Amino acid sequence: MKLFNSLTRQIEEVVPRQPGKIGMYTCGPTVYSTPTIGNFRTYVLSDVLARALKFVGYDVTSVMNLTDVGHLTGDNEGDANQGEDRLEKAAKKEGKTAWEISAAYSSEFMRHMEMLHITRPNVVCKATDHIAEQIALVQKLETKGFAYRIGDGIYFDTRAYERMGHRYGELSNLDEMKKGARLEPNPEKRDPRDFALWKFSPEGVRRQMEWDSPWGVGFPGWHIECSAMSMKYLGEQFDIHVGGEDLRSTHHPNEIAQAEGATGKEPFVKTWVHGAFLLVDGGRMGKSLGNAYTVQDVVGKGYDPLALRYFYLTGHYRKQLNFTWEALAGAAAALARLRAAYQAASSSQGDRTQLSEEKLSKVSEYTEAFAAELADDLNMPAALAVVWEVAKSNIPNYDKVDLLDDFDRVLGLGLGDRVEGIGDREIPVEIKQLMAKRQELRAAKNYAEADKIRDEIVAKGYAVNDEAV
Ligand code: AMP
Ligand code: ZN
Repeated sequence: MKLFNSLTRQIEEVVPRQPGKIGMYTCGPTVYSTPTIGNFRTYVLSDVLARALKFVGYDVTSVMNLTDVGHLTGDNEGDANQGEDRLEKAAKKEGKTAWEISAAYSSEFMRHMEMLHITRPNVVCKATDHIAEQIALVQKLETKGFAYRIGDGIYFDTRAYERMGHRYGELSNLDEMKKGARLEPNPEKRDPRDFALWKFSPEGVRRQMEWDSPWGVGFPGWHIECSAMSMKYLGEQFDIHVGGEDLRSTHHPNEIAQAEGATGKEPFVKTWVHGAFLLVDGGRMGKSLGNAYTVQDVVGKGYDPLALRYFYLTGHYRKQLNFTWEALAGAAAALARLRAAYQAASSSQGDRTQLSEEKLSKVSEYTEAFAAELADDLNMPAALAVVWEVAKSNIPNYDKVDLLDDFDRVLGLGLGDRVEGIGDREIPVEIKQLMAKRQELRAAKNYAEADKIRDEIVAKGYAVNDEAV
């Protein structure tokens, strides 16, 4: 399997640290609002990568964090350890506690993961469950002389780190680093690149989320959780780290500095994989622009969430992908055709005993072609083209079904799922509207009404499968 490694800026063969085994970590969401279809482009990338690695024979252990302690709104731009805490802000707005906010949005995130057929990572870990590990990591950095205290917290000392022969910021490019430095707001820091490891609760203010530490009451800096939890579950060094491209310039270099500074072992992670962003109507998506669509919006318009998954697969992960409702409709139609081809083949499989050398070699050619596209820097658009070749080919139906089942281990489109009403026939608008209504009621936790609608849908001859619909 070859992947583009942001660290070396080259397409490289993935060479696992332990033969046959891959440990991979994905930076999860901050659970203060509903994740967008932009966020899910990155999580589907991580899912497809894990599935592809399994397909080519690796034993994969995947870990994803949930950032449930509020980092600050400026955190992702350079190193502004400034701004308002996102969770507490959402809590104020919604009249809930920060803990209720994180619980509600975490479970919504996991529900949307399932709707998109994203395999649950082996470990899903919360920052607030790992405060002790984060404190221990900061202590380690302190012992090594890579941490110092200023008025509002304990900071990572990038100059001390470089003096010890480490390289800081290898993942970012110079322009991004300069941009970070321009945003420098804290004159107490020794270097603009330094970042918070532990922040103190402001004098006289009780935060909803705060913990005792050797340095006083406060909360962890945003970056430390990923270093602490990835090393806890995958070891001090592991194979692959995944995230959106916005994490390449600050969050990930900081993760590396914290881990390598504490352990003295390089590289912390061998292969860094960054996914390009999803655009909407050719531009940036954002809440203020009104185009930060969610999986719920997709379902609300009557689409199967797996049409969104199919849409993601049509773009290479290192290229921006432009979402429009027309493009989603196109993906939904393609998925329906693929399902129809699968089901047609599956309903008349014929005699499995009719084997010939020629057919066998054709089947293995297709499998090799599919695997080769996966191995070529996860070229999913090209892999999909192989899928379509198979769907349209005249190989025996049972081979077609076997191949498509096999490919679907990576695609995750549920081609073999027997969801009545999808694939077999077009879903009437009336049923789509009922499904959307039911989703809305469920989102509002009005389960009694939602169940009534479910009964209505079933009475009209359609099955409701919450994973797939
Ligand atoms: P956040 O909750 O902001 O930390 O984002 C969670 C993940 O989604 C990160 O890996 C981001 O890089 C990724 N992400 C955010 N916006 C987009 C987008 N428009 N397209 C793809 N990935 C995104
Ligand atoms: Zn992270």
